[in-house]
Amino acid sequence: MNVLIIGGGGREHAIAWKAKQSSLVDNVYVAPGNPGMEEVATCIGLAESDHDALVQFAIQSDIGLTIVGPEAPLLAGLVDRFEEEGLPVFGPRQSAALLEGSKSFAKEIMTKYSIPTGKAKAFSDYEEAVAYVKQEGAPIVVKADGLAAGKGVTVALTEEEAIAALRHVLVESAFGEAGAQVVVEEYLEGEELSLMAFVSGNTVVPMVGAQDHKRAYDGDQGPNTGGMGAYSPVPQFKQADVERAVVEVLQPAADAMVKEGRPFTGILYAGLMMTAQGPKVIEFNARFGDPETQVVLPRLKSDLIDVMVKLLNGDKVELEWKQEAVVGIVLASVGYPGSYEKGVSIVGIEAAATKGLVFHAGTTKQGNVWQTNGGRVLLTAATGHSIADAQAAAYQAVKEIKSDGLYYRNDIAVKAMEAAKQHSTVVRRG
Ligand code: AMP
Repeated sequence: MNVLIIGGGGREHAIAWKAKQSSLVDNVYVAPGNPGMEEVATCIGLAESDHDALVQFAIQSDIGLTIVGPEAPLLAGLVDRFEEEGLPVFGPRQSAALLEGSKSFAKEIMTKYSIPTGKAKAFSDYEEAVAYVKQEGAPIVVKADGLAAGKGVTVALTEEEAIAALRHVLVESAFGEAGAQVVVEEYLEGEELSLMAFVSGNTVVPMVGAQDHKRAYDGDQGPNTGGMGAYSPVPQFKQADVERAVVEVLQPAADAMVKEGRPFTGILYAGLMMTAQGPKVIEFNARFGDPETQVVLPRLKSDLIDVMVKLLNGDKVELEWKQEAVVGIVLASVGYPGSYEKGVSIVGIEAAATKGLVFHAGTTKQGNVWQTNGGRVLLTAATGHSIADAQAAAYQAVKEIKSDGLYYRNDIAVKAMEAAKQHSTVVRRG
């Protein structure tokens, strides 16, 4: 079978890398892809927004399965279009992807179906939103309603900060149409867990959990980003906690979408805060997380393409996982998530690839020279018997990469290592 993956980031590189290992797959194509993927896939120069060209390519190249990576084409109805053409595709239709595309829609679903989440209210009027913030007090969270590439959220520790965020989104229109409305949400305290599942209608097949590092700098300082690193498993949580999140969040969400006449097929991602009262939803995504996918798929023993085909056919799926831990470190352009330079040369990618996995997100090649070409540029991932082993190996790989244009965090997975140490102390004492 030939497989087509839509997108061009690190997540799509990981999906292509895993698809290439499938016994069912002959050729992997990625549209548009990036030059770093070429070892595992053929990149075709088609934009993810060019639905006509993608449909034509899928027909001409006898594509047996298309996987949509990013959220934008899902919300633009690419899956609907492929389905209309009778082409097999794994991803939610536009009407189901709204779970990610509109935070206020997601809140309505969660309220209606008693899925645990923070108390929240949607506003399009600045003055009303300010009055609500003053009434509720800080800390409080301000979120642009629509897609904002992970940058539309302000966790405000003071009322002034929340009001400044409201002004930025509603008055200064920093996120355009995506910020025509804001959701003001209760601040939730706890540890975060990213939990993804393969979903088809009422069928929910959960993956292993992961944790992302949203803040730009060490010690969780600096602005929120699309994600600066990730790891799996997350020893801060017991298996029972993760199972509770499946029962209280993922399964009811899939069931709700069926009841709403918007059945969800694809990857459902719950960003969860594990609070003292149990898991609460911070956000839903309608696709694989980035960078979580780069640390979760290397743990998946099962054949990814076989899993997706079975789900589409309504066949039973059971996933097998490796026990090993995986840690992934993002190399981002200096200045990201703000403005940054492109075209800065990078050396050592090949050396890093001898020490771990290297997934490309924003690279380009000029002759034989790699250059930066985006905000998040590369991710090195490594496997180990423990989080500590995986982390050490991932940093060995990252240190091979040299560029004046890149930075990375030095504390990815440190919290997990501390939690794992505590666990083993408890076990030894017990
Ligand atoms: P989101 O884009 O919704 O995932 O939000 C980005 C980050 O903001 C999350 O990963 C959390 O760290 C933080 N965040 C979002 N919502 C809340 C909340 N209600 N309480 C505390 N932190 C939050």
